[in-house]
Amino acid sequence: MFGNIIGNVRNKEILKNIIYSNNISHSYIFSGIDGIGKFLFAKEFAKAILCLDEKKYPCNKCKSCISFENGNNTDIVIIDEQEDSIKNEIIKELTKKVLEKPVLCSKKVYIINNSENMTKEAQNSLLKTLEEPPEFVVIILVTSNENLLLNTIKSRCIKISFDNLSNSELKQYFDNNLMNFNNDIVDSFGGSIKKAIELNNKKEIFEKVEKIFSNLDNMNTLQIMAMKETIFSNKEDIYSILDYINTIFYRKILKDINNIKKYKRYIEIVEETKIRLNKNSNYDMTIDYALLAINACLERNG
Ligand SMILES: [Zn+2]
Repeated sequence: MFGNIIGNVRNKEILKNIIYSNNISHSYIFSGIDGIGKFLFAKEFAKAILCLDEKKYPCNKCKSCISFENGNNTDIVIIDEQEDSIKNEIIKELTKKVLEKPVLCSKKVYIINNSENMTKEAQNSLLKTLEEPPEFVVIILVTSNENLLLNTIKSRCIKISFDNLSNSELKQYFDNNLMNFNNDIVDSFGGSIKKAIELNNKKEIFEKVEKIFSNLDNMNTLQIMAMKETIFSNKEDIYSILDYINTIFYRKILKDINNIKKYKRYIEIVEETKIRLNKNSNYDMTIDYALLAINACLERNG
């Protein structure tokens, strides 16, 4: 079980124990950042619960496992909406059907992916089912932001927390999938396979950042302000880029002991920029402000 999923070894043991001891609860929350395999874990866990073989590997041979793989096992219901919100109608539909008995198996499993996207009404609808679930029902809420789930929901579920993947686990994933792994920017991946794939595809941006920020001392004001166009136009990756910039500065500190103060100030500026962006400050102004602050720093030192 879980042999094909990388990372979160402890959770593999916890979930196996739940199944082997036949101590399956009615509701679980699988919580952790995006891109670390929570949804895969949920599906594999469900498959094992529904497996008809008494050893529950899952066996991948029984009628349940085969129909599970073919996507026509009616004892597993997956809600995986691509939209930003999971509307009340969808959950209401689920709660209506929840009394329907399983067909093949002794249990029926419901997985709601990105469950934090459930509207408040949808969560309240689900709550009724969580309070009095039919005896054969297992509900798994997969979420990357459990803060958006109502406390009343959370208190009725057993929480399984998933860890960010280590750099070596990320590398293993890339190796297994015969993909090129960029070791230089691994710290920007934040332990997420999803992010690693996204950023690895945008290698040139990081190369550009590297070139500019490792050469700051030789740049004039005009060149520094021009960075805005080349780098900060990648708005959707701005946090990863800022993290990467600080990785560059931390590396500098290790090599250039005489200028620790200067690099510490740069790192502060970058961290302040992240905070401002988090507070939804005007994007362009925030970036301008950061570049001006870096420039002022250079002038003082030069
Ligand atoms: Zn099976």
